[in-house]
Amino acid sequence: MNYKILLDERELPEAWYNIQADLPRLPKPPLHPVTGEVLRPEDLSPIFPPGLIEQELTRERWIPIPEEVREVYRLWRPSPLFRAHRLEKYLGTPAHIYYKYEGVSPAGSHKLNTAVPQAFFNSQAGIKRLATETGAGQWGSALSMACRFFGLECTVYMVKVSYDQKPYRRILMQLFGAEVLASPSPRTRSGQEVLAQDPDSPGSLGIAISEAVEDAATHADTNYALGSVLNHVLLHQTVIGLESKRQMEKAGEKPDIVIGCVGGGSNFAGLAFPWAAECLAGRDEMRFIAVEPAACPTLTKGLRTYDHGDVAGLTPLLFMHTLGRGFIPPAIHAGGLRYHGDAPLLCQLVADGLMEARAYGQRQVFEAAATFIQTEGILPAPESAHAIKAVIDEALAACEAGEKKVILFNLSGHGHFDLAAYQAFLEGRLEDYALPEEKIRESLASLPQVEKP
Ligand SMILES: *Cc1c(COP(=O)(O)O)cnc(C)c1O
Repeated sequence: MNYKILLDERELPEAWYNIQADLPRLPKPPLHPVTGEVLRPEDLSPIFPPGLIEQELTRERWIPIPEEVREVYRLWRPSPLFRAHRLEKYLGTPAHIYYKYEGVSPAGSHKLNTAVPQAFFNSQAGIKRLATETGAGQWGSALSMACRFFGLECTVYMVKVSYDQKPYRRILMQLFGAEVLASPSPRTRSGQEVLAQDPDSPGSLGIAISEAVEDAATHADTNYALGSVLNHVLLHQTVIGLESKRQMEKAGEKPDIVIGCVGGGSNFAGLAFPWAAECLAGRDEMRFIAVEPAACPTLTKGLRTYDHGDVAGLTPLLFMHTLGRGFIPPAIHAGGLRYHGDAPLLCQLVADGLMEARAYGQRQVFEAAATFIQTEGILPAPESAHAIKAVIDEALAACEAGEKKVILFNLSGHGHFDLAAYQAFLEGRLEDYALPEEKIRESLASLPQVEKP
């Protein structure tokens, strides 16, 4: 029996896959936050380096991975693909379950796949410091490490509820040499405004992004880095799916269902897009399931329209599913999934019916995580456990139907820094937040009015 399918170092992908080359319809273009005009590449240059701006907009299918980036990737890539025989047996399912394990990266999640090239292209452009936000702290740890490797300073605005709940992630970032601030912070105008209204604000990714963008825009030697949502981030993450294609080929199987959790959409897209390429070219048929928390149901309950990526309205307007930029989700433990918007490319595929979305409450998600550690031995990040819950449901559906489905999912990170959340689960202190429709409607009412294009 094959439990683990590995690739040789030499099989590390040489290029990222850009789905913009193959989409029949692209999402509407980003708009300038102030003028409302279609964003020009030069509008992004105060906060992003030329290399990344180009990747954001290009429709080239293959983007070469610089050798300096591949050298760092080799610390943990190619990442392993596992066949979950023990989980299958426990569920009594005829389904074959495979997972790509991104928790083997030094930062513990897939986020390093984009942190490394982002730091690299910024260092090439002569930038001295990167400012960013972090939710649960995974993105902050990944970027802190990448900055250290390429000689950049790093300032991290960390969502306050996570700053308090997850001190160990903060310590990890500080060990890499980053400066970490609880957001909302008094350091920026955006942070000051939120604090003036609510001194006890738990923060949100939207607020932290405002702070980091403001910091970058007001300092010439500083750029901004985003850990999800944007096209170039999804592009970098396709190393996951590209490797998984070679590994599944070695296993002699092809997935019927591809599953991933979604915060901003990057780890799911990273796994799914290279497979979706086969479907877009008419060579294959598969189901793609994006899984989000019921407490922050962007794809399942949000509107698809123009909205800012941050609370203060400093970022370009993106055409995406959104709960409204002022939406502050309940303090669930999957901090990395508490974002009001989603990647425009993923939203397009969902709107076109090529990908589906579903939402789960956090208690059932943690139960799925417990089943997973007991069968597979790996403690998943609470974010990743959302995918596991959907995998278990699909595997059980396969039992009932008596079908041998092949399921592939992304185990986006490990949960070794999330033990306080697991303790709350064990002690029965985990809450399921029923999100009142009222709250969503209120938040959506504040969407920007956009006529164009
Ligand atoms: C950040 C994070 C996510 C959510 O972000 P995406 O961009 O949707 O991938 C999921 N899992 C882990 C482990 C994360 O750190």
